[in-house]
Amino acid sequence: MQNLIELDPEGLEALMKRLNQPKFRAKQLYQWIYERGAQSFDEMTNLPKGLREALSRECRLGTLEINVEQQSADGTIKRLYRLEDGQFIESVLMPYRSGRQTACISSQAGCAMGCVFCATGQMGFSRQLTSTEIFEQAYTYARELQAKGQRLSNVVLMGMGEPFHNYNAVMEAVQRIMSELGIGARHITISTVGLVKRIREFADQNAQITLAISLHAATDESRSAILPINRRHNLEELIAACHYYVQKTNRRVTFEWALISGENDSPEEADRLGRLLAGLHCHVNLIPLNPTHGYQGGPSDHARVEQFVRHLEQHGVPATVRVRRGLDIQAGCGQLKSEVTRQSTSLGE
Ligand code: SAH
Ligand code: SF4
Repeated sequence: MQNLIELDPEGLEALMKRLNQPKFRAKQLYQWIYERGAQSFDEMTNLPKGLREALSRECRLGTLEINVEQQSADGTIKRLYRLEDGQFIESVLMPYRSGRQTACISSQAGCAMGCVFCATGQMGFSRQLTSTEIFEQAYTYARELQAKGQRLSNVVLMGMGEPFHNYNAVMEAVQRIMSELGIGARHITISTVGLVKRIREFADQNAQITLAISLHAATDESRSAILPINRRHNLEELIAACHYYVQKTNRRVTFEWALISGENDSPEEADRLGRLLAGLHCHVNLIPLNPTHGYQGGPSDHARVEQFVRHLEQHGVPATVRVRRGLDIQAGCGQLKSEVTRQSTSLGE
């Protein structure tokens, strides 16, 4: 079956030609899919019945199949999708009181980067997602929200996988999120563990997309112990690439820092981080660690978090603590997948 979400406007025209339809039908179809967010062919009432029937027989509006869906008390929706070849990926939708609706989407099935505290890293790498599979995660939420009179406003590439390890597909998907879903570059964030060459390439593109860097440690020794990528690109190289990004784009870099009790949450570590980031236009996002089965560490307590923030402030580095969402449904990236795998393993499946 042809996935219509995979086709660009020319592809839709070719399809209409094959079905012996005039060219303007392609435009109508495009409008139904992207502007009106149709969830079925039945809704496409200005298309002739015969065409709607042919489309239902031969085509579909997306390939992602919901395997598990959970809703948190705070409204966060988390989905495990089954892909056509049986792989699984997660995506999350976070509604905020302000009306903002943020989708957190995946770029790979699994991840090859092996960060020790990350559930996705603990699983290893399965395969790259296609640009359509990446785009479709955002598209699905967008059309569901549209049906409720709401709007998907933000997209973050912070689900499973390392976006810069699947650079071209991610950039293509992001282009479509902007053009087809009407979400502006400044409302999109790409988070990377630090693939330095790609950070520079991304800077050269000068798209106004927000860049987030997963830092988590301020010395090479401690960073290499938890993020293996640091053995390939050390902190000096990484921070230099961040300076290059700010120079090229005039935008601020976000640094992510998972606060792990007794590991990277001391005032001395905050001071080291403050010195490392001196003179860089940036912002630090602190996230108390989400526990995972493959890692012993736990989150820092409130007092420790506040102390860390105060020390960063003394260095002139702005920091905010990310509100953890959907904790009751395993909010951390990769946690739903590993949860389902664990349960089915323990059932002997
Ligand atoms: N691969 C990309 C994006 C996905 S991970 C990256 O690493 O940046 C999104 C963020 O969640 C990253 O900052 C990652 O380091 C962080 N993260 C992973 N596991 C976590 C955990 N158990 N607790 C808190 N943050 C975690
Ligand atoms: Fe991959 Fe990001 Fe998890 Fe590291 S933190 S293993 S890069 S998904």
